[in-house]
Amino acid sequence: MKFQLFGIRCTARFGFFLVVALYMALDESGMGLPALAAVLLHEMGHLWMLRFTGSKIPAVDFQPFGVRLLVQRGGVSVGQETLIYLGGILMNALCLLLWTPWRGWDGFALANGGLLIFNLLPVGRLDGGQLVRLALENRFPPHKAILFHGLIGMGILLPLGVGGWLLLMQGNPTLLCTVVYLALTIWNE
Ligand SMILES: [Zn+2]
Repeated sequence: MKFQLFGIRCTARFGFFLVVALYMALDESGMGLPALAAVLLHEMGHLWMLRFTGSKIPAVDFQPFGVRLLVQRGGVSVGQETLIYLGGILMNALCLLLWTPWRGWDGFALANGGLLIFNLLPVGRLDGGQLVRLALENRFPPHKAILFHGLIGMGILLPLGVGGWLLLMQGNPTLLCTVVYLALTIWNE
C-alpha cells in the first residue's frame, strides 16, 4: 500500500499488515485495538520527527518491526537520522506520560510501554538496532560495523529465543515467531 503523508512517499508492505493482523488474531486478552493504536502512533512519531528535523528523505518503508528510511547522500545528517529513529519511541513515551495519570495502566498504556521497550532492543531493524548501527558506522569501517551489529543482535536474540521457546511450551507462539523473524532479517543483512 502506497500513500502520501506530510509530502513523504510512504509504503506499507504486505508483511506489515500481516504481522498486525496475526498478532491481533493470536491475542485473546482484548489488547488488539489498543496495540494497533500504539503501533500507528509509533509510526507517526517517526514521520513527525522526520518533518520536525527538516530531513530530506523522499520515501519511508514500513516493514514488520521496523521502518526503513530512504536516505540519500547528503540528504540527512547522522543526528537527524538518530532523531527520526528515536521519534517512534519518544511518541510512545509521550503517550505513556499523558495517558497513565489519566487512565492508569490499561491496555493502551501497556501497549505503549511494551512497544517502547521492544523497540529499544539493539536488534537488527528495530529502532534500537538502527541506533546502534548508526553509532557503529560512526566508529568502525562498514564491514566491521555490519559484523558487530549482527553479533550484538544475535546476542540479544539468543536469551529471548529461550524465553520464546518456554512461552511456546505454554501455548503462546508470539515471542518465538518474533525472535525467528528478527534473526532472519539480521541473517539477510
Ligand atoms: Zn519505530
